[in-house]
Amino acid sequence: PADLALDRLTKVYPGGVRALDGLELTVRDGEFFALLGPSGCGKSTLLRTIAGLETATSGTLHIGGRDVTALPPGARDIAMVFQDYALFPHMTVEENIAYPLKVRKTGRAERTARARETAAELGLGHLTGRRPGQLSGGQQQRAALARAMACRPRVFLFDEPLSNLDARMRLEARTFLKKLQRELGVTTVFVTHDQAEALALADRIAVMETGRLRQVGTPAEIFRRP
Ligand code: ADP
Ligand code: ADP
Repeated sequence: PADLALDRLTKVYPGGVRALDGLELTVRDGEFFALLGPSGCGKSTLLRTIAGLETATSGTLHIGGRDVTALPPGARDIAMVFQDYALFPHMTVEENIAYPLKVRKTGRAERTARARETAAELGLGHLTGRRPGQLSGGQQQRAALARAMACRPRVFLFDEPLSNLDARMRLEARTFLKKLQRELGVTTVFVTHDQAEALALADRIAVMETGRLRQVGTPAEIFRRP
């Protein structure tokens, strides 16, 4: 089954804003999928609804062939990386990475082993004892990624994870993300308002406009000049 399938997914906020208007979309296994669109078009709402942080008003959502529409975030086999990283400031890098495993009741020894292994995979092996405040922006971004990866989710959700990095770090992070996705083949939904970023990273792109997907296709299809 496809990793992610949306069927007439709709979100109406209290007060009446129709942030998602009957979305139909399938994201394939291992695909890097970018959601592109201006501020206010519904990108965050879509990501948060997939994550289970918002409840769909109607329609269904399948992850890995399973109907998760009514399931809480912890039961959805996803991990989300936020724009501001949302690392815990009082915890070390290792404790941050291990935290979701702790929530899932993974034993201490396995938690530590997996946190160290994931940190090493992301080039943070020498920084596991530091707190987020002692890391550069790019290192914090990798730590947030490591925390998401440690639970080995089926689907990664990224909410503009590079927008707080300076231009040079952003290019570096882009290259890194693409390499990681090639090596691990993890299905990824990546929200951005940056056309160049979508073009550089995505296998396919959806262009969003006020709660609807106006166009879905490969970068070549989306950016082809008429
Ligand atoms: P984007 O991520 O593309 O900037 P959002 O998903 O944040 O878009 O917002 C989509 C629409 O839903 C906007 O009109 C926004 O004002 C509205 N919206 C977002 N969150 C809420 C909320 N909690 N309550 C009411 N309206 C919201
Ligand atoms: P972004 O554009 O990055 O999605 P926003 O500034 O649109 O960020 O939203 C920040 C927060 O405010 C989100 O949690 C969103 O749900 C909430 N929000 C956005 N628009 C509204 C709104 N019209 N009413 C209530 N909450 C909103």
